[in-house]
Amino acid sequence: MKAFFSEEQLLHTPRQFMRLGRICAPTDLPSRAESLRGTLAARGIAVETPPDYGRSPLADVHSPDYLDYLENAHARWRALEMPGVEPGEEVLPNLSPYHNGRVEQPRRSPCPSPSVVAQTGYYLSDLSCPIGPHTWRSALRSTHSAVAAADHAAGGGGFAYALCRPSGHHAHRDRAGGFCYLNSSAAAASRLRQTRSRVAVLDVDAHHGDGTQQIFYLRPDVMTISVHADPAGYYPFYTGYAHERGHGAGEGCNLNLPLPHGSGNAAFLQALDQAMAALAAYAPEALVLALGFDTYKDDPISVLRLDMDAYRQIGARVAALGLPTVIVQEGGYMVQAIGPALDAFLQGLDPTGARRA
Ligand SMILES: [Zn+2]
Repeated sequence: MKAFFSEEQLLHTPRQFMRLGRICAPTDLPSRAESLRGTLAARGIAVETPPDYGRSPLADVHSPDYLDYLENAHARWRALEMPGVEPGEEVLPNLSPYHNGRVEQPRRSPCPSPSVVAQTGYYLSDLSCPIGPHTWRSALRSTHSAVAAADHAAGGGGFAYALCRPSGHHAHRDRAGGFCYLNSSAAAASRLRQTRSRVAVLDVDAHHGDGTQQIFYLRPDVMTISVHADPAGYYPFYTGYAHERGHGAGEGCNLNLPLPHGSGNAAFLQALDQAMAALAAYAPEALVLALGFDTYKDDPISVLRLDMDAYRQIGARVAALGLPTVIVQEGGYMVQAIGPALDAFLQGLDPTGARRA
């Protein structure tokens, strides 16, 4: 097993995060990646820097107008000249444009206004996604880690781990949200599709993988399954419900398994077994596991109650599928817990360490 990570993924250092009307300290800290790297080193798993693929692996995942916006927003924002107001150091929206949000309509037209203020409202869906000077580069390199891991898994490597930070699964085709800018899990799935006819994304983060669902919602060639806390009272609120099953040619290729808040290992693993049955029926040729640890009972934003044994069980179930698998790191914000959680997952995935090389 190999792991992929670029030092440039540490450059993104958000300064603020709006929660319940209060500016809070950010939770997506670079120290999250350090904790996960410590676990990989302790298990003897080699970490490679991914090649710089540029934007090309994202062509099937994000719209060009959105990528242009993300790449240039910070410089354009800082260059703004407004009488009496100096632009802040991070790009954040002060507009919320109307959009009907219908999942069966995956494409919006590009923002009709050339203003960076208007585009910031259009492309950033919430106040957890500030764009700093290095955000684009960190997010882009995070997707490169996922793409390199996909190539490794597809090339007969079995399992590959992408230490993605910032995370990606809330990023829609043309919208950032929930600490996510570019969708690494979707980029990995898209890359696997180059050599496999059917791919599945299984998302076990505490939050619904809304961006991944939206990107593939009309497609039968990528199944998306998400096990998560009931979105009625939890981010991302607007999607993640059981009735969302895909649309058009993608009908039946999306499965949401929302869990009551307070659910522990037993309920989570029961839902995971349902996910495994759906996967078996779909018979994918490769898997992307969107792996979050914000399901942990002591995570600062968790409403689920998983303990470390759950991650071991998730690893064992994924290994039992016997598929080329890209493990993409998503959330998990208790820095001292995510390293041990990854270790437990890897134990379950590969109890003998035989696939370590
Ligand atoms: Zn999450």
